[in-house]
Amino acid sequence: MTLLNIRVEKTETPKPIPGEEDPLVFGTIFTDHMFVMDYEEGKGWIDARIVPYAPLSLEPSAMVFHYGQEMFEGLKAYKGKDGRILLFRPDENIKRANHTNERICIPEIPEEDFMQAIKAIVKMERLWVPSREGTSLYIRPFIIATDPFLGVRPSHTYKFLIILSPVGAYYPEGLNPVKIWIEDEYVRAVRGGLGEAKAGANYVASLKAQVKAHEEGYSQVLWLDGVERKYIEEVGAMNIFFKMKGTVITPALNGSILPGVTRKSCIELCKAWGYPVEERKVSAEELFCAAKEGTLEEVWGTGTAAVISPVGHLRKGDVVLQVGDGGIGSLSQKLYDTVTGIQLGKIKGPEGWVVEVE
Ligand SMILES: *Cc1c(COP(=O)(O)O)cnc(C)c1O
Repeated sequence: MTLLNIRVEKTETPKPIPGEEDPLVFGTIFTDHMFVMDYEEGKGWIDARIVPYAPLSLEPSAMVFHYGQEMFEGLKAYKGKDGRILLFRPDENIKRANHTNERICIPEIPEEDFMQAIKAIVKMERLWVPSREGTSLYIRPFIIATDPFLGVRPSHTYKFLIILSPVGAYYPEGLNPVKIWIEDEYVRAVRGGLGEAKAGANYVASLKAQVKAHEEGYSQVLWLDGVERKYIEEVGAMNIFFKMKGTVITPALNGSILPGVTRKSCIELCKAWGYPVEERKVSAEELFCAAKEGTLEEVWGTGTAAVISPVGHLRKGDVVLQVGDGGIGSLSQKLYDTVTGIQLGKIKGPEGWVVEVE
């Protein structure tokens, strides 16, 4: 196993670290340093370094600006009650990152190097990990194509960066059910496309529907499949779960759905608790029928940002559907409490879910 030799250049102008009472608006504050590593064909990933957080200098012709060859990941570091800094299943993010890389022709990063890079930058910025309930240090690894070239092909050079941002509680007043707009015009992804890759390209495809939903007073879009616009895929940038007649159901990974780490964790927990769990196709029609019969017990989204996001009501065209009593379901709440408890080291999770940054 070859370890990265990470060069460290410390900032001479450290920023004030937000206090426990300061508001942390998602993705607005960045720490003093970032991790950077370059890729050159023939040399591989080289020059691993931690440097002051600063603007990048890139050729305007850099391929990422023109054809969008870019990938990203998202995970969090938490401060446990005992002061330890904990990562939640980072190995899953690293494996997924390399699947994304493979899909969009970016060279793979060896898993142990990726892990070392995450741990090194988080350790360097450990004082930035907030400790108030629900807060964390958001970790954003990403790779961009940097060849100065306007032809269409995979780049021969890349930059891999990791930036860090302290983030506040997603639900400062506790879990709050959201209103969902079922989108039947625009689609996020199709099988064979980039849906199962974590690439910026999927997000640009989603903006239009997101704007439309906001204009209608809805917070998130529920995406239907790109072929028949019949089956449910995801909600916003989260995976989606349903509880109907005591069974937990989530759309099967079909090539256009992002395989979420939170999704995987919820499936594993629900199975361990004895719930029947089905990964299969779920049509919007099935959902509406279940709601009419009174068997749609809970709906929730899963993702690193919110962990669990209960859905209180859904709208498709002129039809509005209420889930359960419109409040937070008991399983949604239990999953939230359990996953966040494991993340903070308060509850012992399955082997290997929590990785300490030492
Ligand atoms: C990142 C992401 C998710 C959630 O994945 P987690 O690993 O649970 O954070 C779900 N859907 C999309 C489209 C995503 O980009």
